[in-house]
Amino acid sequence: MARQTLLIDADDTLWENNVFFQKTIDNFVTQLEHLGYTREYVRHILNETERRNIRQHGYGVRSFGRSLEETYLKLAGNSARNEVVQEIEGMVRELESTPPHILDGVPETLAYLSRHHRLILLTKGEPAEQAAKVERSGLQSYFDAIEIVIEKESETYGRMIDQFKIVKSHGWMIGNSPRSDINPALQSGLNAVFIPHSATWELEKAELESGNGKLLILAAFRELRTHF
Ligand SMILES: [Mg+2]
Repeated sequence: MARQTLLIDADDTLWENNVFFQKTIDNFVTQLEHLGYTREYVRHILNETERRNIRQHGYGVRSFGRSLEETYLKLAGNSARNEVVQEIEGMVRELESTPPHILDGVPETLAYLSRHHRLILLTKGEPAEQAAKVERSGLQSYFDAIEIVIEKESETYGRMIDQFKIVKSHGWMIGNSPRSDINPALQSGLNAVFIPHSATWELEKAELESGNGKLLILAAFRELRTHF
């Protein structure tokens, strides 16, 4: 196979991410049980608040923490208590300091891929937070470049194609998110590898769309080795 350019997502592709957010949300919802709302309703209000905060403040733990607090204050109304706000802040600090948990087979597969192809890490989020995760993962040496972007839309992929002079037929986006990794990459003319993760964030889900490029669907990151 000729040398390809592989753009690789990070959260829930190279390391666990959403499962930790999910745990924090479960604790948060339990914490709010005394208010008398169903878990589904609390979840629904949180999702709405997150969508709004992401538009205003971007992705990341801080934006998420703000959404938890706002959801609590909205649902608790006049009975809101400062102790609960402090407990929420504690949960967010704990989430922030959780060490990266690299997914199975990732380092050896990156080592193999980096010998044959050009690898570019492409992650979206709060720049300092994502950079710290990359640093702590110890995986940066496998990549020719690390790109941290605000959002992953088809224009973002167009920019990557220009910036790295990627020949589209030899370029691939690899990730777990139909909304951010697969659909916009295919729309921009790249190929894509979808590696679903069971804990993919609600806001990343979407129907897979088709494009001009090829689409591979793999069960695990290590299976990349048999295709590249
Ligand atoms: Mg991801």
